[in-house]
Amino acid sequence: MGLKIESFKPEESEEHKKRELNLFIENMDLILENSHKILSCGEYFHCKFSFAYAGTIYLGGGYIPLGVLIIGRQEGILRDKCLYCNKETFWIMGFSGGFSFGSKWGVCEECKKFVVTNCKPSDYIEIWQKIVPIIHSYPSWQIVEVEKEVAHFSWLKGIVYKKKKVKEKIDFYESVKLQELVRELRGEKKRKCKELIHSFKTPTLKNLLLKRKAW
Ligand SMILES: [Zn+2]
Repeated sequence: MGLKIESFKPEESEEHKKRELNLFIENMDLILENSHKILSCGEYFHCKFSFAYAGTIYLGGGYIPLGVLIIGRQEGILRDKCLYCNKETFWIMGFSGGFSFGSKWGVCEECKKFVVTNCKPSDYIEIWQKIVPIIHSYPSWQIVEVEKEVAHFSWLKGIVYKKKKVKEKIDFYESVKLQELVRELRGEKKRKCKELIHSFKTPTLKNLLLKRKAW
C-alpha cells in the first residue's frame, strides 16, 4: 500500500468562518455553562463549525465535533498557554501540519482572542493520537446493508428491476449549526434531543493509521 497523502479543509468561505468565529467567541461562556447539555445531546455533540477541524497532511483529518472539543478541553488535551495573556486558557480547536511543520489554533477563554501558534510535528501528532480515538468512539453515522430495487438493462426485456444488497450511509443525527445551537441554549427554541451514541469499539491507533480516512 502506498502512502496516501490526504488533507482536509472545510469548504466554507473565509467570510463564513469569520462570522462563526465571532459568534463562538460571543457565546463561549454560554456554551461552556451548558457543557453537560451538549455532552448528552447527539445533535449538539455533533455540531461542527468551520474553524474546528484537523487537517494533517499525512494523517488525514476532518471536523472536530463540539462534544469532542469539550471532552478534550476537560481532559487537558486541548489546552495550552495563550500567546497574548500567558494564561493556560487557550482552548485548541484545530490543528494541521506535515512532516516538518505544524500549527494549532483556537480561542483563549480569558482574553477571548483567536490564537494561532506554530508547533513541532510531535505536538500536533500527540493531539491527533489522543483526539481521533475520541472522535471515533462517538460515531454520527453508520454504514448499513439494505435491499434495494436496482435498475438493470436486459437486451430481451429492456429495463428490469432486481433486488440487490447495497451499502448505505445512515446518519444518526441531524447535527445543529452553531447559530441554531446558540439560539437553543439561550432558550429561544426547544429541542427533543436524541441520546448520544457511544461506541466502545474504539479502533486502535494502528487501524486508524492504516485507514487514514476523514472521519
Ligand atoms: Zn489569552
